[in-house]
Amino acid sequence: MSSAKNRAGSRSLLVAGAGIPGLTLAIALKQANGPALDVTVCDPGLSVGAARHRGRAFAVAAGPRRMFERLGLWERIAPAAEPIRDMVITDSRLGDPVRPTFLTFAQRSAEEESRGEPFAHMVEAEPLVAVLLGAAEEVGVTFEPTGIADAVPEGARIRATLGDRRELAASLVVAADGARSRLREAAGIGWVGWSYPQSGIVATITHERDHEGRAYEHFLPSGPFAILPLPSCDGRHRSSIVWTERQADVPALLGGSAEDTLAEIERRFGLSLGHIALEDGPSAHTLSFGIARSFFGDRLALLGDAAHVIHPVAGQGLNLGFSDAAALAETVTEALRLGTDPGAPEVLRAYERARRFDTVAMAAATDGLNRLFSNDALPVRLARDLGLGLVDRLPGLKRFFIGEASAIRGAQPRLLRGEAL
Ligand SMILES: Cc1cc2nc3c(=O)[nH]c(=O)nc-3n(C[C@H](O)[C@H](O)[C@H](O)COP(=O)(O)OP(=O)(O)OC[C@H]3O[C@@H](n4cnc5c(N)ncnc54)[C@H](O)[C@@H]3O)c2cc1C
Repeated sequence: MSSAKNRAGSRSLLVAGAGIPGLTLAIALKQANGPALDVTVCDPGLSVGAARHRGRAFAVAAGPRRMFERLGLWERIAPAAEPIRDMVITDSRLGDPVRPTFLTFAQRSAEEESRGEPFAHMVEAEPLVAVLLGAAEEVGVTFEPTGIADAVPEGARIRATLGDRRELAASLVVAADGARSRLREAAGIGWVGWSYPQSGIVATITHERDHEGRAYEHFLPSGPFAILPLPSCDGRHRSSIVWTERQADVPALLGGSAEDTLAEIERRFGLSLGHIALEDGPSAHTLSFGIARSFFGDRLALLGDAAHVIHPVAGQGLNLGFSDAAALAETVTEALRLGTDPGAPEVLRAYERARRFDTVAMAAATDGLNRLFSNDALPVRLARDLGLGLVDRLPGLKRFFIGEASAIRGAQPRLLRGEAL
């Protein structure tokens, strides 16, 4: 069994979960600390590689994009990224002949435009993960294509048992093992959460006309239907859809022929981009809300969906995970530079302090937004439409919303501000 501090005097850190936030953390830590920190990422999914992320795409906010620039990775990610230059929000029923626009995010100041910083990019997951896996290998992260079965703290170290019964010791284990985190549960960390009676259906669509970087969010009574611009491929114009539906209706909507499914998508997608076809999907995902009662345990830090799961209405779940990775990389690196134990409670408490408020605020905002809009009662419709109309007429307020969605406001971790660790 290896020790928490190996013979060369370096510390070790284990990441359980090679999802996007787990890999980002591993790269940031290894880049900043070199041989002073051994970083091992364990995940049975590593044997499949990036291919298991095929067909997914995420809105990556401006802060995380700055982090990837600082890590020297954005140039490699950029070919798989499409800037969102404009966002149109509508509120209507499915059969309505027109969808009035209530909010647009296109008008940015000349200064913002000159900085060339769109508030988010849509990034395809498979090429993004391929870049992250390559970069992790280059900086010397060790991969173990097996899960962590359990992790037991023992004084100045934590002993992890892998799926194949081998044991590894570290100063800190990071649970980046998703919403149903086995390590969080084994550590007895509570979870406050519930399931939404909705599913999130994702698919990649090709269409006749160029999207020109415009995203749409149509608020329909059963939930939001988002159309998000993707990079063109072999001359085909493409968008990703995230379609929220009542869970009970999903089998009927997706269970018919491919033509029937496409017709259902077309009813919601509209005709503005011309004729559409399915490139990938659809696949349906259960939706839930949850926040861990604490973001750390004894020599254990929670990261990404292991710490929080939110509704995808604002495309912010992964962005919270990126902020976690930036904050944890910063607190661990500071501890190592001071020569202190990176798994000590005060280090993990500093990580939680950096992340808790932002996470709770975003979780509450996305839950409220979904409840407000997945609702067809007339008084609620009138109130929300008035609210959206007001925001649209107040540029200051709108900039606030864009700043929030861009994860660039407030006391952000250094990497999200584009600064070195
Ligand atoms: C429909 C939908 C659309 C979304 N759109 C967006 C968006 O546009 N923008 C955005 O920011 N977010 C979005 N999200 C949220 C985003 O998908 C998640 O927040 C993100 O994928 C979470 O990543 P994660 O690595 O924390 O968890 P996961 O992706 O669940 O990864 C967990 C990893 O841990 C591994 N693992 C599990 N158990 C173990 C173990 N015991 N040991 C080792 N490894 C283990 C798994 O194999 C997996 O690789 C969306 C979510 C949904 C449902």
